[in-house]
Amino acid sequence: MAVPAISEAPSGRLADALGRPLHDLRISVTDRCNFRCVYCMPKEVFDKDYAYLPHGELLSFEEITRVARIFIAHGVEKLRLTGGEPLLRKNLERLVGMLRTLDTPSGRPLDITLTTNGSLLARKAHVLKDAGLDRVTVSLDALDDAVFRRMNDVDFAVADVLHGLDAAHTAGLGPIKVNMVVKRGTNEDQVLPMARHFKGSPFILRFIEYMDVGASNGWNMEEVIPSAELVRRISAELPLAPVDANYSGETAARWRYLDGGGEVGFISSVTQAFCHDCSRLRLSTEGKLYTCLFATRGHDLRALLRAGRTDEELSGAVAQLWRGRTDRYSETRTADTSGLAGGARKVEMSYIGG
Ligand code: SAM
Ligand code: SF4
Ligand code: SF4
Repeated sequence: MAVPAISEAPSGRLADALGRPLHDLRISVTDRCNFRCVYCMPKEVFDKDYAYLPHGELLSFEEITRVARIFIAHGVEKLRLTGGEPLLRKNLERLVGMLRTLDTPSGRPLDITLTTNGSLLARKAHVLKDAGLDRVTVSLDALDDAVFRRMNDVDFAVADVLHGLDAAHTAGLGPIKVNMVVKRGTNEDQVLPMARHFKGSPFILRFIEYMDVGASNGWNMEEVIPSAELVRRISAELPLAPVDANYSGETAARWRYLDGGGEVGFISSVTQAFCHDCSRLRLSTEGKLYTCLFATRGHDLRALLRAGRTDEELSGAVAQLWRGRTDRYSETRTADTSGLAGGARKVEMSYIGG
């Protein structure tokens, strides 16, 4: 990453080349996971010979906090911890506690959230809440145990994720969202059971279109079920009406049950791209910045950190990176996503997080 020659104080209102503000920093705290979801870390690729990052390559909690402080000065108001499976990172609550001490220049509260597969949540929910975590999002792709075990591919039971969800709710980590990736022919029969189960519950279910992230999952457009089709299928049994977005840049289209049973969300990253107001930046486990989920190249912030650069220099470098950002992959993707220029490989989702 280049450091600009002239430094400037952060204004708290950084915009990219398409006028999009920087609002949301996703921090991947590990590239490891205890699941092998077929659409994310398929076993054939992420096997026992797969080379994960050695511990020294990971950003330390101190480094992450330093970087987060710089981004917050540039206008970030939301931090999402992700991975891999973030709860596999030892003493994650210590990082949460360190991030909790940071204040936004606007005076608005900093939102600290975490995306997890829920497997360790029953054990961790209270300590995370006590450390200052605001909310969690839990991924769950099926209610049927056999389907779920097939999708996580490590024989993990649905009941354990449901316990984790309850523990998070009891700990006060809400509003809690439940993310379900829908893959045609794999778990589409779980859409209605999931809708019925979470309707009227404290959890907000969101359906995610299966995406062509990374280079490992053998993505095929035919396995994507467009959100519009899901809305029709659900509405046929449980009538839905659209709701206005909470804020600009919100990824999920919100719908509510007409009988007052709460809300569901649809994240249509493939069929209705939302790049026009994408305000997300991703920090990988080893400290590379990715300006788009589908990027083929990261920008090495860790090199600057470990070269002893000052906060001012880091701040200038990230401002310059964001100002030059033009990414809008989802708006320009074609069905043949393998056709990236020069055959470049897209970064894996398990490496930079969702
Ligand atoms: N391990 C955590 C989890 O599963 O929640 C956090 C990391 S995971 C990469 C973040 C989110 O990305 C999950 O909700 C997961 O379902 C989603 N995801 C992974 N691969 C995907 C794909 N190919 N298409 C759509 N969503 C995907
Ligand atoms: Fe692990 Fe999450 Fe990827 Fe599943 S989606 S393999 S739980 S990182
Ligand atoms: Fe943002 Fe890239 Fe996703 Fe578009 S494709 S919404 S720019 S991360």
